Amino acid sequence: MKTGRKLFIISGPSGTGKGTLISRVLKRLDDVVISISATTRKERAGEKPRLDYYFLSEEEFNEKIRKNEFLEWANVHSNRYGTIRDVVRDHLRSGNDVILELDVQGALSVRKKVPNSILVFIKPPSSAELKKRLMKRKTETEEDIELRLKIAKDEIEFANKYDYIIINDDLNRATEELLKIIKQEKRGKTTTIL
Ligand code: 5GP
Repeated sequence: MKTGRKLFIISGPSGTGKGTLISRVLKRLDDVVISISATTRKERAGEKPRLDYYFLSEEEFNEKIRKNEFLEWANVHSNRYGTIRDVVRDHLRSGNDVILELDVQGALSVRKKVPNSILVFIKPPSSAELKKRLMKRKTETEEDIELRLKIAKDEIEFANKYDYIIINDDLNRATEELLKIIKQEKRGKTTTIL
């Protein structure tokens, strides 16, 4: 499909506050929605199926790969995550710009397929701060936190491939920065082919 709507891809290590930033900007933007991904990860306390993720079994995920239903998919933190192409298309067709929250592999793979997608990387102020935030949210085991910190280091190396980098040292300031980027990009003309 061809559309004048845009695809925003937001990445950043686990614990950088991406989710909070995204939900804050979504409340203040018209015609911008987030696309819900599929995952084989177990549901965390407080998460809701179809609102946070489409929680799939390994078999269901494999079936979607086989049927080529993913725009991209990747192994992240020993689970699989994927963007369902039709979910994104439906949002674009309804006249919305779409935010995808993806790890760096997913972001770069979508960028190859959709060259005019806009890539935003959210950086934590420091790795010490990132560790503190991950420990505070108490949703991961110690082993999982160590894995996420190790992956964070690798992910930050990719930040220079992104169009924008936001340092989330202050939530209000970072929200305004992300809002400004999206508003500015929304104004520009483009043709997205998906
Ligand atoms: P979490 O398990 O904390 O919800 O997410 C872990 C990581 O998976 C995050 O870095 C997030 O950006 C990434 N992720 C979420 N959905 C997708 C997806 O559909 N594709 C890819 N490639 N990464 C995703």
